[in-house]
Amino acid sequence: MERTNRSRADNLGAKSSAGGLDITPAEAKYWWSWFIFGSIMTVETRHHLRRSWGFCARHTWQHAMVEIEAWGGRPFGTAILYEDLCGRAARAVGARLKPAPLRLRRLRPRAVCLACDYLQIAQTVAEPSHLERCARVNRRERTTRLLAELQPLWRERTCPQCLGGKGIVCRMHLLESAGPLGRSLLSQLERLRQRLELFVRSMTWRGPVVGADVQVSWLEVLGWFAGWNFPAALASETASTTSRRS
Ligand SMILES: [Zn+2]
Ligand SMILES: [Zn+2]
Repeated sequence: MERTNRSRADNLGAKSSAGGLDITPAEAKYWWSWFIFGSIMTVETRHHLRRSWGFCARHTWQHAMVEIEAWGGRPFGTAILYEDLCGRAARAVGARLKPAPLRLRRLRPRAVCLACDYLQIAQTVAEPSHLERCARVNRRERTTRLLAELQPLWRERTCPQCLGGKGIVCRMHLLESAGPLGRSLLSQLERLRQRLELFVRSMTWRGPVVGADVQVSWLEVLGWFAGWNFPAALASETASTTSRRS
């Protein structure tokens, strides 16, 4: 029970969204040694991620950043995972016979963030390989470039309460304000899932060529699940670096 309560606080981002953009050696070890090359393949992990609605805010964005920086420059696995979760969230929101408070409650995590759980118990001694991976990810070169390319679009589609955009009110703020669930939420989530599906296919052999409207979908879905603090912080970091150079 204690484990579940901790997961709720963490997954809502109350604690875990703090701590800066850099990944730590322990987090690098988690992503490399346990998650991306290991447990993501297992049925148990997929079921856990459905119960926890992915990771906490920090680790949702970090998962994408690690994937972008370390493998191929695009968030392929992240998009597959969140396409699945987005479809499940749409079905939870649209369950017709259930009253709104009950549907809203289904958007709360029912399991701990897997990365936070690992970090609580791991006794990680920084190894050279972890330090080198941290340095590579923490340069954030590919992620910064991707966000800059899509910036006008994702800024416009952010949660009104996170960053004043015209996008879908994020899950964090829906849960904080305890609703009500807008009638359009189901169709917004379903349309987002469809664009994500196209985005995933565009990264496969002979997949379709897609425009910015589809390419931005991975940012929108992570923003909906985990809030928009990470891209906002990264964009302002980039802006201050650029102004220092000029
Ligand atoms: Zn976490
Ligand atoms: Zn929000």
